[in-house]
Amino acid sequence: MNGIDGNYAELQAKLKIDCEKCSGLCCVALYCMKTDGFPANKDAGIPCKHLENDFRCDIHSKLVSKNMRGCLAYDCFGAGQKVTQQYGCGMDWKSASNQAGEIFQVFLIVFQLHQMAWYLIEALSLTFDEYLKSDIRELIFQNEQMTAQRPQEILCLDVEKYRQKVNQTLKEVSENITDSPSGYVKVKDFFGKDFKRANLEGKDFSMSLMIAANLEGCNLCHANFLGADMRDANIKNTDLSQSVFLTQMQINSAKGNINTKLPKNLSHPISWQGL
Ligand code: SF4
Ligand code: SF4
Repeated sequence: MNGIDGNYAELQAKLKIDCEKCSGLCCVALYCMKTDGFPANKDAGIPCKHLENDFRCDIHSKLVSKNMRGCLAYDCFGAGQKVTQQYGCGMDWKSASNQAGEIFQVFLIVFQLHQMAWYLIEALSLTFDEYLKSDIRELIFQNEQMTAQRPQEILCLDVEKYRQKVNQTLKEVSENITDSPSGYVKVKDFFGKDFKRANLEGKDFSMSLMIAANLEGCNLCHANFLGADMRDANIKNTDLSQSVFLTQMQINSAKGNINTKLPKNLSHPISWQGL
């Protein structure tokens, strides 16, 4: 497999969160449940009670000790800062409250597009098929064009049509790297399963439920985690550096430690400190 195409390094960097440049969009726009590790149940569009006037979280330093798993795991693929900046100076959801609903909608659309861009950039590094590479580059180009539009135009995008093309392309890439040609669309339930340091090289875990599964010490080279639910999966002392289609949100929601090896584009979350 290739490394990430250097032409897309800049784009990939923009898909990482930068909360300092954001108006706390995830803390307002999303529907949250206390049982999912958020401070309280709240509807979409209602600000979290811990969001301060300057869009900082007043319990940020205590999120780990208070076990706010939902807050710690969430990752917007850079959609928050992108949309905050698209609306420009002084045009955040609070100061332009009549536009708040629109801003939240745009955020949710850009989140989806950025998530697809994340996968497409990695997909480019996973195939040697020049036709497939060309399709992927075209999809990334379209993605950049879409997210560069004005907010009102973003609201009119046919994201589902684009998603279908992306899904088909990712399926083709996945078929060439994992053990299950049609597994991409099949949900598999590995809830709590103990894989006992198994050799899982090239396994297709895409869209699987891996909640609380024990993957410690397994060989996960080229294992495909596209869309897998990794909440509380044990990845301590595990090498995921050659696994594919992982996201920061999956890593944030899993249980790793200092010995967990990650793909270069992902980082160890603060919640793992001391584990
Ligand atoms: S929306 Fe993204 S950038 Fe903004 S606060 Fe949430 S995680 Fe950070
Ligand atoms: S607790 Fe903090 S990070 Fe979590 S939703 Fe509220 S303001 Fe956001």
